[in-house]
Amino acid sequence: MSSTAARFSFELYPPRSERAAAALPATIDRLAAAGPDFISVTYGANGSSRGSSLDVLRYILDHTDVSPMAHLTCVGSSHEETNRLIREFLDAGIRRFLAVRGDPPADVEPGGDGLGDIRSSAELVQLIHRVQAERVPYGELPVPGLPARTVLEHREHVQIAVAAFPNGHPSSHSVSQDIDALLAKQAAGANLGITQLFFHAEDYLHFAQRAKEAGVRFPILPGIMPVTSPARLKRMLELSGEDLPSDLAIQLEVEPTDEGRHEIGIAWAAGLAQRLLDGGAPGIHLYTFNQHAAVLSVLERVGLGPVASATSTLPTESEPA
Ligand code: FAD
Repeated sequence: MSSTAARFSFELYPPRSERAAAALPATIDRLAAAGPDFISVTYGANGSSRGSSLDVLRYILDHTDVSPMAHLTCVGSSHEETNRLIREFLDAGIRRFLAVRGDPPADVEPGGDGLGDIRSSAELVQLIHRVQAERVPYGELPVPGLPARTVLEHREHVQIAVAAFPNGHPSSHSVSQDIDALLAKQAAGANLGITQLFFHAEDYLHFAQRAKEAGVRFPILPGIMPVTSPARLKRMLELSGEDLPSDLAIQLEVEPTDEGRHEIGIAWAAGLAQRLLDGGAPGIHLYTFNQHAAVLSVLERVGLGPVASATSTLPTESEPA
């Protein structure tokens, strides 16, 4: 049985074509109607998606009741540029962030100048808190009947999530190093973890247990993607660097119809989500690939979220994977 307290959230990426941009609002509306805790929007590591990420975040802010979460990256940027970027997003009304370093271009030397001024996500977490503190040093409330204002003790804080790697970041040497990285992110002020994709529930459950024992206090949401085609599986492997799960790959390869592959992907993701929730995961974060049907079907199968309209068999929106 899934925990009644379990929650869910979604990830989108900024559209890469006019057709995808035109289709995205309808997808967001459907995702928002399911009542997620937040919808996160990815950000290009070199700042390439600044405008389009912000457009998607603004749509979520202006047209839904859901809180948007902005991914931000720091690799390759100066301190001043990152400061300005954070301020721009805060000024737009964003109060939730996922602070990630981003991957440096292949030709950048490890430790070289091309990495920029801010070398890790932990430094980015600190900078987001600092910029917010400078913008809103304290809160004020009007005093009824007097031309005065009371200073509030607590100013408005932001939520800052960070990346977690159940099977290790590609450049880390051991799981302990990944746990140390999470502890560093926590010390910098992060208050939520979201994982890289993985294929086996035990990968997440062991990692979350080790992180907790090491002193990580914030919840870590497992990231799940319904893999509904061989092309999507290939993309998932590129993104995660994980080994190929041969059973799933074979099922997708031998299934002759799109409907059948869609069903395989949903059933597989729902099975994984259920094992994670049964094992104590605080919720699930669904990578949507900018398509609502598959993720809403996954939620329906694990008993999370209202999903009467989610049972259409094939995606109709946005770009294919
Ligand atoms: P960091 O935390 O800075 O870590 C980078 C490296 O340093 C790692 O090897 C880490 O192990 C090591 N390290 C850090 N601190 C320590 C420490 N204290 N001790 C030892 N080692 C340490 N990329 C994008 O470009 N845009 C996105 O929108 C985006 N969203 C993502 C969302 C999620 C949920 C995830 C999991 C990843 C996302 N990424 C995104 C990818 C991410 O930018 C890369 O994986 C990047 O290589 C690492 O990012 P990080 O924030 O974990 O880096």
